[in-house]
Amino acid sequence: SDSAPALEASGLAFRYPDGHRALTGVDLRVERGERVAVLGPNGAGKTTMTLHFNGVLRAESGSIHVGGLPVDSRNLKEIRRRVGLVFQDPDDQLFMPTVREDVAFGPANFGVRGAALAERVRSALDAVGMAEHADRSPLHLSGGQRKRVALAAVLACQPELLVLDEPSSNLEPVARRELAEVLLAWGGTMLMVTHDLPYALQLCPRSVLIDDGTVVADGPTAELLANAELLAAHRLEL
Ligand code: ATP
Repeated sequence: SDSAPALEASGLAFRYPDGHRALTGVDLRVERGERVAVLGPNGAGKTTMTLHFNGVLRAESGSIHVGGLPVDSRNLKEIRRRVGLVFQDPDDQLFMPTVREDVAFGPANFGVRGAALAERVRSALDAVGMAEHADRSPLHLSGGQRKRVALAAVLACQPELLVLDEPSSNLEPVARRELAEVLLAWGGTMLMVTHDLPYALQLCPRSVLIDDGTVVADGPTAELLANAELLAAHRLEL
């Protein structure tokens, strides 16, 4: 429904096949329009958590709702339309001969065709400042440009929740700043996994801190980052 939160996860637990308990009871609620950073040390469970939000991984227990719709096998296609995942490495997302085809792939998969599809591609490439590169091969772009094309490929699906894994990693300062501007201009609900604490502060008014598979802090980013003891206890460096 329209009043449901963008995301609500409760009691989320997950164990990898080797028995490792990666999530031990995650509770997280994100309202529509919020931008939330997901912080935490290496191995805390951040990526594992985000892979549950669009059904790539299936929780062992607990529940997830996206805009009120439960994430389960009956709803997977609609959940994947609603939740756009942008992977850390754009090369995991770009595999077509041209930028245009890569950006068209997602919406075409959701049934968008013809002029509507062309318009989706045009507006997503516009949003990331890559319109003039539509006919190039992603292989010939810089790392920052590839990150923006991977973002466009997800934005073209018009997600209700954008989930980004380490968007600023491996980016030069200029590319990092350009990407921040694109994300702020997009203006939608966003969950951003990052080790880049200044980036979290710049983009996300709220942060959740994950460690050992659970949420250990949740509040205004500025407050979390001002808590030196908390950061040290969870091996985070400003
Ligand atoms: P990073 O900041 O390094 O990306 P993260 O917080 O995203 O870390 P995850 O990648 O979610 O952490 O990993 C959580 C835990 O699960 C880690 O201990 C990791 O070694 C383990 N893990 C990840 N993938 C698998 C897998 N396929 N099989 C077994 N264990 C795994």
